Amino acid sequence: MNQNFNQLQGRFPQLGCWVFLLISFWVVGAIGITGIIKSIFALVLFLLLAPVLGFWALQFWVKRNLVEGSCPVCNQPLTGLKKMKIPCPSCGTEVMATEDGFERVSADGVIDVQVVDTQTSVVDVSDTATTIDVEVQRLPEAEV
Ligand SMILES: [Zn+2]
Repeated sequence: MNQNFNQLQGRFPQLGCWVFLLISFWVVGAIGITGIIKSIFALVLFLLLAPVLGFWALQFWVKRNLVEGSCPVCNQPLTGLKKMKIPCPSCGTEVMATEDGFERVSADGVIDVQVVDTQTSVVDVSDTATTIDVEVQRLPEAEV
């Protein structure tokens, strides 16, 4: 079939062009000139609406992924995108935005401890300053 067509094209080099014209006329006849105008109009409408729809989609995405919270170290109000690490503009601590707020990102080998239960006691700070001695040791880096 295809070979026959090639043979025909070999005999009549202009046939491809005529076939194209014939198909074009057939398409115009089938869907009509108004149909073509309508489809062009639809295309223009789509091109005009695409940026608006894109903007809506972006806004929707931002709303779903935007996290508002505060720095766990200094309580500075922060805004960031989910799973994005940002340094706190106030204290410089690297924090990561999660589903329910911001979490401190700790470096490898550092265990972040959160105080869960503390007993509040009335300490008279007027005459003696309370000092808590904390020993900090840097662990040797693990061999890779
Ligand atoms: Zn901070």
